Amino acid sequence: MIDGTFDVVGAAGPRALFEHLTPETLSHGYLFTGPAGVGKKTFARSLAQSLLCITPKRTLLGWCGHCSGCTHVAAGTHPDLLYAEGQLKIGDRDAGGGLRETEEPTARDLVRQLSLHAYAGGKRVFVLGDADFTREAANALLKFFEEPPAGVLLIVTTSAPGRVLPTIRSRLVEVTFGLLSDAEIVEILSRRGIDASDAQRAASIAGGSVRRALQYLDEGEGAIRDAAVEWFFAAAQGGEADATGWATRPTLEAGLETVRTLARDWIALGIAGSAPLLAPDQRTRLVALPARDANAFARLLASLSDAERIAHSNVSPMLVADLVRMALAPAPAR
Ligand SMILES: [Zn+2]
Repeated sequence: MIDGTFDVVGAAGPRALFEHLTPETLSHGYLFTGPAGVGKKTFARSLAQSLLCITPKRTLLGWCGHCSGCTHVAAGTHPDLLYAEGQLKIGDRDAGGGLRETEEPTARDLVRQLSLHAYAGGKRVFVLGDADFTREAANALLKFFEEPPAGVLLIVTTSAPGRVLPTIRSRLVEVTFGLLSDAEIVEILSRRGIDASDAQRAASIAGGSVRRALQYLDEGEGAIRDAAVEWFFAAAQGGEADATGWATRPTLEAGLETVRTLARDWIALGIAGSAPLLAPDQRTRLVALPARDANAFARLLASLSDAERIAHSNVSPMLVADLVRMALAPAPAR
C-alpha cells in the first residue's frame, strides 16, 4: 500500500469529497461546475489517473506514476480512458476498433464504448471537459443512466451548468469548484516554469482563474492591459489619454474588457464605498479617483455597452476608445 501522489493545487472541497469515497461508493457520474480556469479538467484527469493506476493505495485519490496504468494515462493511450473536450461530434456509424485519447472521440464512440468491458479489468473513465452536448451525445448519456454499466465513471465538466440538459444534470452528482487563491495560482504558474515575479503579477489580476492568468502572460495581453489601465486613469482625470497601446483592431476587445473591469470597480467603490474588486491590483488608484454622480456612472456604462457593440463593426478602434473617453472624462467646470 502506498499513499500515492495527487498533486492538484486547490480544490479542497472536491478533494475532501473524493478522499472519503472508494471505487465501490463512487457514483456513476459527476458534474464538475465552477468558473472557467479553476482546475476542473485537471482534477478530472487526476481522478481518472487515480482510478486507473493499478498500484494499491490507501485512498481513492493518488497514483504511483510508474505502473502500466499510469504510463498509459500519461501517454494518452489508456484504452479505458476516454477524454473529449467541447462538443462531441456524431461520428461515423461504421468506424470500429479501439479508441485512443489522441483521436477525437465521437458520440458514437461514446455509445459503443459504454457497452464494452474494461480492457484492463478495472474502471473505465469518461471525461467530457467543457461539455457541449449534441443530441446524439445526450441520448448516449441518457442510455448510460437508464442502465449504468458496471465499472464506468463519467465526469462532465462545465462552467455553464445551466446549459446541461436537466434530464442529464439531475442524474449527475454535482461537485462545485471555487476560485483559486492568488497563492494557488502562483504555485500552478511556477510549476509551469513561469518565474516568480511574473507569476505574482499574473495572479494579482487573474481573479482566481489560472486561465485568466495565462491569458495575461500570453501574447502580450499583459501589455494591452497595462496600456488600457494607464489610458483609463488618464481619461478619468481628464488628462491626455493615449489609446494607441490598446485601441487597435486586434487588441480592441481585450482593451475594452480591461476598461470595463476598471469602470465596474470604480462604480462599485463609488456606490458601496468598499467592494470586492475585479482589478484588486488597482485598488489604491481607484480609491483615489473622485467618484461621479449616479448619472455620470450610468452614462459611462451606456457608453461601454455602445463601445462593445460597435467594436465588432467597421468603426475605427480609436473612435471607439474616444467614445468611452468622453463618458469617462470629468464634467467641465462651470
Ligand atoms: Zn500507477
